[in-house]
Amino acid sequence: MRTGIMGGTFDPIHYAHLFVAEEARQRFELEQVVFVPCGVPPHKKGYMVSSAEHRFAMTLLATANNPFFRVSRIEIEREGVSYTVDTLEQWRRLYPHHELFLIMGADSLAYLSSWKEPERIGHLAHIIAASRPGFDLSSLHLPEAMCRRVYVMEMPLLDISATDIRNRVRRGASIRYLTPDSVVHYILKHQLYRNEPLEEPNEF
Ligand code: ATP
Repeated sequence: MRTGIMGGTFDPIHYAHLFVAEEARQRFELEQVVFVPCGVPPHKKGYMVSSAEHRFAMTLLATANNPFFRVSRIEIEREGVSYTVDTLEQWRRLYPHHELFLIMGADSLAYLSSWKEPERIGHLAHIIAASRPGFDLSSLHLPEAMCRRVYVMEMPLLDISATDIRNRVRRGASIRYLTPDSVVHYILKHQLYRNEPLEEPNEF
């Protein structure tokens, strides 16, 4: 089964995540895309990451109406830091007949060589890298072995980030149309992000 794996912090999930996943599904004829909210992010984030249960719930809400989308607790249930290579290994043990496509944004691809066991990641999965505003995919220099496994997916750019959504909530600005209504309501109901200091925007 051709399976897309879309990892992320999803704090919160937003329309760019969903659009990238849907685009990859169609173009690569994936039979399902599994969203995998991380348990403990490997790279220290510059803010207090919301609980895994909140991020899981928002991911579930946002993906519920797409019959091809699934959400996995694999990283949430696993002890310790969530490394992608461990997730892919575990997935392969559970579902040996799945052909895996790891879906990510161009910014993530740029850092891939600094992830745990990048070559092994390239061995376990094809990599689909979606264009992202502010990031030039053609300027990337990846190890030869990995290049052969990477598909660059040029697509209409959506300049949406979870950082901006969190900052908007803090400023009391609207986040409608950046993420599904169900996620907007969840954030308001649980008062996520409200009382934290503003963050610097991401620089690529
Ligand atoms: P933050 O602003 O907190 O860093 P984020 O918006 O980048 O979060 P993540 O959960 O860290 O969201 O991202 C999950 C995956 O989605 C990553 O591979 C990232 O590159 C990709 N992604 C996120 N936003 C976009 C976007 N606007 N366009 C393309 N890819 C994106």
